[in-house]
Amino acid sequence: MQLPLRFPFVTALRRTEQVETLLVEVVDTDGRRGWGEAAQVWQVTGESVVGAQACVVEMLAPVLIGQPLANWPMVTDRLARVVARNAGAKSAVETALLDLVCRAAGGSLADLLSQPARTISGATAAAGPPGSGLVVTTDVTVSATDLAATVQAARQRVADGFTTLKLKVGTDALTDVERVVAVRREVGEDVRLRLDANQGWTRDEAVRAIRALDDAQVDVEFVEQPVAGEDVEGLAWVRRRVDTPVVADEAVFTMTDLRRVVRLAAADGINVKLAKAGGPLAAVRQVHFAQQAGLMTMVGSMMESNIGVAAALHVAVAGEASLVADLDAGWWLRQPAPMTGLIYGNDATVRIGPGPGLGVVPLLGG
Ligand SMILES: [Mg+2]
Repeated sequence: MQLPLRFPFVTALRRTEQVETLLVEVVDTDGRRGWGEAAQVWQVTGESVVGAQACVVEMLAPVLIGQPLANWPMVTDRLARVVARNAGAKSAVETALLDLVCRAAGGSLADLLSQPARTISGATAAAGPPGSGLVVTTDVTVSATDLAATVQAARQRVADGFTTLKLKVGTDALTDVERVVAVRREVGEDVRLRLDANQGWTRDEAVRAIRALDDAQVDVEFVEQPVAGEDVEGLAWVRRRVDTPVVADEAVFTMTDLRRVVRLAAADGINVKLAKAGGPLAAVRQVHFAQQAGLMTMVGSMMESNIGVAAALHVAVAGEASLVADLDAGWWLRQPAPMTGLIYGNDATVRIGPGPGLGVVPLLGG
C-alpha cells in the first residue's frame, strides 16, 4: 500500500513523500480478522515491502497457520525465533495475531499487554470499561530543511494544535543550532522542543551542537540518537559531556541492545518502536525494562499508517511510557488512511475508540 504524505518527511537519513507499507491480515476459521503492518524503512530497519512480504509468506505464516488461537504464546515465541532480524515483518504478523486473539476474547490489545504473565487465554482476556477508548498525546515531526522553511513549519504545527515539536537535525551541526534557536524564538517557551539527529552527527559535532544550544539557553527536552546507532560507546561519550538528556533510538532494536545501553549508561531514555523490537510483546518488555533501569520511555513508530500507529499506541498505554508519544505518522498522510478507528485531534492527541483488539480496521476489499 502506498499513501502520499502532506509534506516531504526529511531526516538526516532519508527523504520520503509517501508511506510504503505492507498490511498483514490473519483470518481464523470463524472468519474473524486481525491486522498488522510492516513499513518499508530501508535506511533504519533495512526492510522493504517486498522483503517483508517474502518473510511473511515463506517463513512467518507457516508458523501460525493451522494453530488454535489459544496457542498464541507458543506461536509468538516461534515467530520471534524462526527468522533472524526482519523485526518489522515479525511485528506485523504478531500484531495481526494478537489483534485476532483480542477480538475473539473481547478485550483490547492494551489489556492483553498489561497482563503480567502470559496466562491470558481467549476466555480470560478482560474487556476495558464500556465506552472507553485509548488516548495519548503525541509530538509532531518538523523535517530537516532550511531555516525559513523550518520556522514556518514549526509555526504551522503549533497552529495545528501540537504542543511538542520534534525537530529533525543531524544534517549540519552549525545550521542545526541556528534552526533550533530560530524555532525556539518563533514558538516561545510554552512549546516543548525535542531534537532527533537520526545518527547524523559525529561525537564531536553532537557535543558542540548540544552545548551551543545549552549556552544559548534554548530549552531542549532531549536529543535523540545524536550519533551512529552502532556507536553505543559514542552515545555514552556524548551523554557524559552534555547536560541535555540523550535518548536512544536506532541504537536499540533488541533487548540485548537495550541492556548494553543501560550497562554503558549511554542514554537517559529510549524510543521503543515495534518495527525494531519485533512486535508489541517485545516492545512492552523493553518499556518495562527501561523503566526499571531508570530510563525515560517513549513509544514511537516508523512512517506508517494507522494499523502500525494503533499497535504502538496500545504499547504506550499498556507500558505507561513516561514521555509524550512519538506517534504522528498517521497525521502525515495527505488523505485519511483507509482505516476506521484512529483519530488525530486538534489538541495533539491521537485516540482509538472502544473496541476489541487494535480498534482499527482497514477499509479494503474483502
Ligand atoms: Mg528517532
